[in-house]
Amino acid sequence: MNWSELYWQRITPLHLLLWPVSLLFVLFQSIRRYLYRHEILTSIPLPVPVIVIDSITTASLVKTPLIIQIANMLRARGLRPGIIGHGYTDNYHPPMRVTIDSPLQLVGEKSLRLAYYLRETCPVWIGHDRIEVAKALLEAHKECNVLICNDGLQDLRLKRDFEAVIVDTSVINSGNGLIMPAGPLRDSFARLKHSNAIIQAGHQRQIPDIDEGIRIFYITPLKERFFNLLQPELTVSAAELANKRIHAIVCDPDTQNFLDNLKFMKLTVTSHIFSGNHHFIAKDFQFGEAEIILVPEEDAVKYLSLRDERIWVLQQEYRIDLGLREIILKKLREKFMDPKLLDILACPLCKGPLIYKKDRSELICKADRLAYPIRDGIPVMLEDEARRLPEEEEIK
Ligand code: ZN
Repeated sequence: MNWSELYWQRITPLHLLLWPVSLLFVLFQSIRRYLYRHEILTSIPLPVPVIVIDSITTASLVKTPLIIQIANMLRARGLRPGIIGHGYTDNYHPPMRVTIDSPLQLVGEKSLRLAYYLRETCPVWIGHDRIEVAKALLEAHKECNVLICNDGLQDLRLKRDFEAVIVDTSVINSGNGLIMPAGPLRDSFARLKHSNAIIQAGHQRQIPDIDEGIRIFYITPLKERFFNLLQPELTVSAAELANKRIHAIVCDPDTQNFLDNLKFMKLTVTSHIFSGNHHFIAKDFQFGEAEIILVPEEDAVKYLSLRDERIWVLQQEYRIDLGLREIILKKLREKFMDPKLLDILACPLCKGPLIYKKDRSELICKADRLAYPIRDGIPVMLEDEARRLPEEEEIK
């Protein structure tokens, strides 16, 4: 546990001193929201639909896995998502693409983790100004037709079509329930009524002050397994590791959680605890007899550059309420009803323009002679699903 978590768990005279600052912070956010709602300040729309997924608390362990799952779900439906974000707090960089080779210190752990999991299937871009980041991503990846913003709850300048807020009640439970800077909440719970959906992780506590009309979806841990850091397609279960010589590397502040998990899986490990900002070098991993080194998922990308094939990552998968998937797709269907949006879609193969044929519900690429279907209101931009145009079919 690091100092900030300890600090957020308690209420001390310092917290009481900071409490008026928290109230001012909430007031400031409410005024801004009012100005945007009444169009005194204007949100900037982007040419493709924007889905904002953010957490009401400053830290949420489920946000990154949830975004990965939503990106994969959109991909499976034939959409071409791209992910934008600020990166980390003191990021003043112009827009840049994050790849698995990006330096951790420059891009931050969360965006590197997204790039690591999604690889080529979904570009991840970060930068200081989310609008500029979105424009740069769309310019570089003309096939992208939906954006997921992995932060930006309070960045109302970014016009959003759908907003889901994660409420991790376990984090709130351990926190003091106050708003920044006195506590871990980034806004008041009243803010949630302006969102399209609330995603609750953990059932420990009822969320207060929510309008009846807002849908709450639950995210629950599914199964646990380990994958090899260098070859993520290789996976093992805890049972398969039972007789190996196992070491575990864990960084503050998640130490106990991770070690408890391993214990629960009946694994006997030698644990090594490092501080959260430790800069790892190969020497830290020189445990002569270790066959397996286990690390938690949220730290995994820190060890990529060490190229150590003994490192296995505990992957936690979550079950997402099917209803959440449905309301996201419903919103996207509404957006894709607009022929203007269909007009700007590009072919995922040649990145060239497409011709929208309303009568056949198809988007046609002249260069590749492919007709992409619009199925159930969603353009399916997958080569395997596209109809190959016969020689004699004329394209007008
Ligand atoms: Zn094409």
